Amino acid sequence: MDTFIGCDFGGTKLLIGEIDEDGKILQSKRYDTGIKKHTEAADYILSCLTDYKDQVGFLGTPKAAGAGVVGVVDYENGIWKSIDHVENTPIPLASNISELLGVPVAVDNDVKCATKAEMMFGQGKYSDNFIYLNIGTGISAGFVVEGKILRGANNNSGEVGHCVVDITREELCICGRHGCVESIASGSGFTNQVFCLYDQYPTKLGKLNTGDKANISEIFHLADEGDGLCKKLTEQAILNISNLIMNLVRTTDPDTIILGGGVLSDGWLLPKICEKFNASTMRGVRNGVIQSSFNPGLVGLIGAGAQGIEIYRELHS
Ligand SMILES: [Zn+2]
Repeated sequence: MDTFIGCDFGGTKLLIGEIDEDGKILQSKRYDTGIKKHTEAADYILSCLTDYKDQVGFLGTPKAAGAGVVGVVDYENGIWKSIDHVENTPIPLASNISELLGVPVAVDNDVKCATKAEMMFGQGKYSDNFIYLNIGTGISAGFVVEGKILRGANNNSGEVGHCVVDITREELCICGRHGCVESIASGSGFTNQVFCLYDQYPTKLGKLNTGDKANISEIFHLADEGDGLCKKLTEQAILNISNLIMNLVRTTDPDTIILGGGVLSDGWLLPKICEKFNASTMRGVRNGVIQSSFNPGLVGLIGAGAQGIEIYRELHS
């Protein structure tokens, strides 16, 4: 059986696995991360791949591999350029992994990998013009236009978390602007907002200490019960995400919007976001705004493997 190796490197975990041609995960192993520098992360990825090869082994015959990593990736040349958009040390990750595994390797940004998973095996199969919007710790998107993932001059397309959706905001985003959607409606945005608004609204939500993260499902649950702070947090997130989506619709004219990521995965926000849409703006989105069918914890691995499938097919077409 022909199989493909996927390697999904995120902020907290590294998942390595083997998928078949239909995108089904045959087996996988999780490794803990927490590494801040991509030079160290690249070495760690190689040592975990060596462990996987030796300890788990392969069920089929791997034909190619793909790796998805956070940050900026030069997909064409298989170079991991930066993990944080600040430090820029080019790492030839594709050729390093290829040397280790003995198969061709593609490397891409993690959200672009998830977008590839949607294109090949998910809701994106039915569209050549869709947007995959990921709302997890941060917010970013994969734009598929006329069947291709947009990359941009610096491989930096899709950083839509830094679209300003509220010009009245005073708090500063990490990017240096005010009112970015990520600082309000992402996982880290909810945490920021709990700190900013905690003393202004009555709440049953526990106070956060420095370094704590907001519990999103608890916030949704308390908002349903009428909790003052949680209603405020969710109302502003709903409004700002719906504004972001409508701005993106005006940018690339998609027929489908696929929502992924941990903040959206339980479906609580989706109908509330849709209520805020302007019908005229959304009229061309004929397949609707829909939830990803993938488990948010696994879509990156499937997408990384899908990059391997694509590079293998390109080499054999
Ligand atoms: Zn920003």
